[in-house]
Amino acid sequence: MTTTPISLDEIYSIAKKTLINNGCDNLNAEAVSKTVTYAERDGSVSHGLFRIPGYVAALRSKKVKGNSKPTKKNLTQNAIQIDGDYGFAPMAIQIGIPELVKVTKNHGVGVLTIKNTHHFAALWHETEALAENELIGIACTAYMPSVAPAGAIKPLFGTNPISFAWPRKNKTPVVYDMATASMAMGEVQVAARDGHKVPFGTGLNKDGKETDNPSEIANGGVLLPFGGYKGSAIALMVELLSAGLVGDLFSFEAKEADNKDGGPARGGEFIMAFSPQLIAGDNWNDHSEKFFEQMTSLEGVRLPGQRRHNNRKDTGPRNINTKLLETINSLK
Ligand code: NDP
Repeated sequence: MTTTPISLDEIYSIAKKTLINNGCDNLNAEAVSKTVTYAERDGSVSHGLFRIPGYVAALRSKKVKGNSKPTKKNLTQNAIQIDGDYGFAPMAIQIGIPELVKVTKNHGVGVLTIKNTHHFAALWHETEALAENELIGIACTAYMPSVAPAGAIKPLFGTNPISFAWPRKNKTPVVYDMATASMAMGEVQVAARDGHKVPFGTGLNKDGKETDNPSEIANGGVLLPFGGYKGSAIALMVELLSAGLVGDLFSFEAKEADNKDGGPARGGEFIMAFSPQLIAGDNWNDHSEKFFEQMTSLEGVRLPGQRRHNNRKDTGPRNINTKLLETINSLK
């Protein structure tokens, strides 16, 4: 793969310019470009510039509003709803997170529901933003069906990611952010292209049989949830929280509503925050640090989020796939 070194500032400019040239206003373009740049900075490359062609496709087909103006509604004293006005999710999230921080610091627990948005990004942006405010964050969203519930051979669940962040005083937070599918479909496609096998348990072929052949999963087969029926239960929870509770589309409804332009489908996001200070009391940080000490003293263990946070220390250029850059240039 040929790559081109690009500074983080340039990555931001390329993303913003391309989005603006394709129908985003300044505020929406800035919100999306930030998530793209932070993803490249942290080495979450599948959510960096790689996503720009999809964002552009959704703007060009008019599925997504590039000038969305999200609105806020207080559902209860500590539950807030942001209606994303059919724009990209980062715009709604950047308005909702400071509101969630405020109510959680007042009440100990807060809920933010995001609806009428199109989510294509990683979720650690939102949970980590909560942890930076000394709050615990949980977020999840449902996506297009590609995963069979345990026992089934047809897709119903999306890849349904869930993220959790725990704040640490004077340290980067512990953050995990993972799809509830055994493997991303993109990775299965790459394995098929490169002639590699995938582990049994990744997915089923078109006849519903387990296979280690990625082509059979990608072409007419289906992914499985991670961890069998246990992962299936978590994927079910993600559907219910981010669609049933938020009041937006389940994965199967998102598929029915989507115009298949390759951009992000419509959906909602559920975000919840807790204040360890108000709930556990003054000792919360020292106490949890003891736990992290125990955990990291075990050989072979690293805390989730550490890889990204280490990548972040490098402020130099990022090596971007040259073909991708050419594609993005052609979208201007
Ligand atoms: P990974 O399997 O790559 O990583 C999942 C988590 O596990 C990360 O937080 C990672 O931390 C942590 N981790 C990995 N290896 C270790 C280890 N050895 N020890 C401890 N922790 C570890 O992620 P996925 O492929 O499942 O998901 C990738 C992204 O895709 C997520 O950001 C998700 O939000 C996004 N996504 C978004 C969707 C959407 O609709 N918006 C749909 C599906 C996925 P670290 O980062 O530090 O490596």
